[in-house]
Amino acid sequence: MLGPPGAGKGTQAERFARLRNIPKISTGDILREAVHAKTEVGLRAKAIMDRGELVSDDVMIGIVRERLEQTDAKDGFVLDGFPRTVAQASALDTIMTERDPLIVIDIVVPEAELVRRLGSRMICEDCGTGAPVGSMVGAACAKCGGRLVQRADDDQAVVIERLKIYHRQSEPLVEYYRVRPTFRSIDGAQAPDRVAEDLAAAIAAVNGYGSLGGRV
Ligand code: AMP
Repeated sequence: MLGPPGAGKGTQAERFARLRNIPKISTGDILREAVHAKTEVGLRAKAIMDRGELVSDDVMIGIVRERLEQTDAKDGFVLDGFPRTVAQASALDTIMTERDPLIVIDIVVPEAELVRRLGSRMICEDCGTGAPVGSMVGAACAKCGGRLVQRADDDQAVVIERLKIYHRQSEPLVEYYRVRPTFRSIDGAQAPDRVAEDLAAAIAAVNGYGSLGGRV
C-alpha cells in the first residue's frame, strides 16, 4: 500500500486484511511497539520518528524480512508503510522471489487534505491504536481504555517535514512500480467506504496476474 502520510493506508490496510483474514503488517506500528517496549531498535528509532525522518533501510528491511517469514503471512499479507524507499522496494522484490507477485496500490490524496487529516489524528498512548476520525484528545481508546493523544510526529512542523521526506524518498516508488501490471492508483480523498470499495475492485482487477498460486 503506497501513499503519503495521512492517505489512509493504515485504515484501509486494516479493513482489507480483516476482510481477507490475512495479517496487516505496519512498519510504523512495529516501530511504535518497539519504542513502547524500549527495545534496542525502539530506543534508536524514537528520535528519528519524532523528527519525521526515516529509520535506516537496513533496520527496516531486517524487520520486514523476519516478519514475512512468519507462518501467518504465508498465504498473503497487507504491507502498510513499507517500502518507503527504492532500496526497500528492491529488497522486498528479493524477499518475494518465489512468492506470488506483489499487488501495489497507490492511494492518492491532495496535500491540503493530508495536512488537515494529520492535524486531527489521534492514537492511544498505551496501545498505539489509531482512533476514529473526530476523536478528542483525552478520550478513552475503544480497544484498551488508554488515553487518546496526538501522535508526536503529527505535530504541524513534523508533518511538513514528513511530507517533504515523502516527496523526496517515497514518491519515486510510484515510478518504480507503475510499469507493473499489478499496479493501480486509487482516489483516497473519498469517504473511507468508497476508498475501500475502489481498493477491493483494484485488487480484484489485478489479482492472478502472473500469479504462482492465484492468491492475493
Ligand atoms: P507511519 O506510522 O507509517 O507513518 O510511520 C511512522 C514513522 O516510522 C515514520 O515517520 C518513520 O520514521 C518510521 N517508519 C515507518 N515505516 C518506515 C519505513 N518503511 N522506512 C523507514 N522508516 C519508517
